[in-house]
Amino acid sequence: MAGTGKFFVGGNWKCNGTKESITKLVSDLNGAKLEADVDVVVAPPFIYIDQVKNTLTARIEISGQNSWVGKGGAFTGEISVEQLNDIGCKWVILGHSERRHIIGEDDQFIGKKAAYALSQGLGVIACVGEKLEERESGKTFDVCFQQLKAFADAVPSWENVVIAYEPVWAIGTGKVATPIQAQEVHVALRDWLRKNVSAEVASKTRIIYGGSVNGGNSAELAKQEDIDGFLVGGASLKGPEFATIVNSVT
Ligand code: PGA
Repeated sequence: MAGTGKFFVGGNWKCNGTKESITKLVSDLNGAKLEADVDVVVAPPFIYIDQVKNTLTARIEISGQNSWVGKGGAFTGEISVEQLNDIGCKWVILGHSERRHIIGEDDQFIGKKAAYALSQGLGVIACVGEKLEERESGKTFDVCFQQLKAFADAVPSWENVVIAYEPVWAIGTGKVATPIQAQEVHVALRDWLRKNVSAEVASKTRIIYGGSVNGGNSAELAKQEDIDGFLVGGASLKGPEFATIVNSVT
């Protein structure tokens, strides 16, 4: 970790869970010992946010998994930033590869969403990452820089932004990036920020890694100088394992 801020660990529960399983997960999180010096965030499915908010006693903030691009209104099936604020969310995940590649959200749309969420006081977990064929054809940096540029073109300030580098080939596949592979991209992203935004933003913005992080590999990854935390999918559905990942900074 580069010492640019507090270690940051997010749990992205995606479209998983029931009232019952989430009751158990929250109870496990409430019972877990979490390192004090880490920002911990969970992103439950929207319909369970209120349940989680009302039962979670642990020092964990809540994130939405997505948000609408502007003010709420006649947008069937969407959730607005105003509603996320109303229910007590502090963060929203934007640009996740499942939204980019399954739902078809493009860079500009995601950038607009980020700008709107920030303008209403939400923090943004801004995801970037290359697909396997892009990595194999040597385009990793180009793809990540293009996605980062779309955020940079849209956001007025980086103060409440955490960047998540999530190589698509590592998400939900059990194929984690090696610490060296992750570190290499994190350094490149930081360098891009230095050249294209400012030295201050480059040094202060946390860059977290996501993609098959688990209780067994998080400590090695966390040792890398430019890995400032994690965005965790599958392993965040298990309370004790998620706590191990949170505590892997020490
Ligand atoms: P995973 O998902 O940990 O299950 O690979 C990470 C993510 O999509 O944020």
